[in-house]
Amino acid sequence: MVSDTTLDDLPLRDDLRGHAPYGAPQLEVSVRLNTNENSHDVPPEVVEAVVAAIAEQVPHLNRYPDREADALRDALAAFLRAQPASHGVPLTRGNVWAANGSNEVLQQLLQAFGGPGRTAVGFTPSYSMHPIITQTSGTAWVDGKRGDGFSLDPFAVAEQVRAAGGGTGADVVFLTSPNNPTGTALPLDVVEAAYEATRGIVIVDEAYAEFARPLGAGGTPSAITLLPGRPRLVVTRTMSKAFAFAGTRVGYLAADPAVVDALRLVRLPYHLSSLTQAAATAALAHADALLATVEDTKAQRDRLVAAMPTLGLFALPSDANFVLVGGFDDAPAAWKALLAHGVLVRDVGIPGHLRITAGTAAETDAVLAALAEVVVEEERAAHPEDTDDDEEQA
Ligand SMILES: *Cc1c(COP(=O)(O)O)cnc(C)c1O
Repeated sequence: MVSDTTLDDLPLRDDLRGHAPYGAPQLEVSVRLNTNENSHDVPPEVVEAVVAAIAEQVPHLNRYPDREADALRDALAAFLRAQPASHGVPLTRGNVWAANGSNEVLQQLLQAFGGPGRTAVGFTPSYSMHPIITQTSGTAWVDGKRGDGFSLDPFAVAEQVRAAGGGTGADVVFLTSPNNPTGTALPLDVVEAAYEATRGIVIVDEAYAEFARPLGAGGTPSAITLLPGRPRLVVTRTMSKAFAFAGTRVGYLAADPAVVDALRLVRLPYHLSSLTQAAATAALAHADALLATVEDTKAQRDRLVAAMPTLGLFALPSDANFVLVGGFDDAPAAWKALLAHGVLVRDVGIPGHLRITAGTAAETDAVLAALAEVVVEEERAAHPEDTDDDEEQA
């Protein structure tokens, strides 16, 4: 059925008019480094365990799933307890909530703690879904400002959190650590300052926590360490990145059990399918195998960072599985040129910058080779009078 109807012809909510949907391109390109997925397939031992767990569920799909996802939440709590960056905070099932991706967790948080007449603040540039989830829940969005080099300091954050909502203060604060797209982890004093500055909810989105530098090597502890005594603090995590499980759609949070109670008021009944719960629980029993590629990915990330100056580009230090690269004359043109070389990266809308996911060694080879050619093409376009082969930059 074809139609000439456009959004303008529909009785759409006024506050959604003129908005664009989230849309990282999903293109069939050989080197896909644009959505920070894990480039490694799920390891065979995990495939076997997941298939067996799903097979056990299939005859019982006539029944609704466990509405509370108890087994999965037990497994997630055990995983978090075992992480050195959690400093042994004794999290249990009651502290953990899971949904279809951390995006759904965030949506439930906004449904419970945002809404019409309330305000959320985040600090741009950050994850593009934070304003979208905020606004679709009818919550007002405030674009917070960062300092030089995309930094955040406790005073500036506290001031902006207090000033939000016309001076009544933010009801929801988004902090992203390590930040997407800049890659850097957030010092915990920034989280504490945001918490003290509001009576609202403070969400620390730790989608990339597993890639952070270790505590002994300049790394930052997880905001999970701040949870005891802070019932309005929420830390969100996901199985989409380090766990190489994006297709399953499992995200989760750690917080006070009262926050979990609040989310029970807004979640759809049986929001997490039996198959999803079984797959994720089985996968978590093999967390070490699933996370085995994290060190490889970090090595590729560090390789990308180190290579940029040799290309006349620069990269921000990264605690994540991606690198924000600057120094392009025209980032959208460079993005297109890379695509023409079979490499898909992300134009995050920061002038002169592109975000590149760290994948396999072969993908790093491919993106570095393509970048070298694109940089030369940019030079030629900028100086068309230099027709000889001398590409040396002054
Ligand atoms: C990728 C990403 C997520 C993941 O979302 P899921 O819904 O769990 O796949 C969440 N937050 C940030 C900052 C991200 O970059």
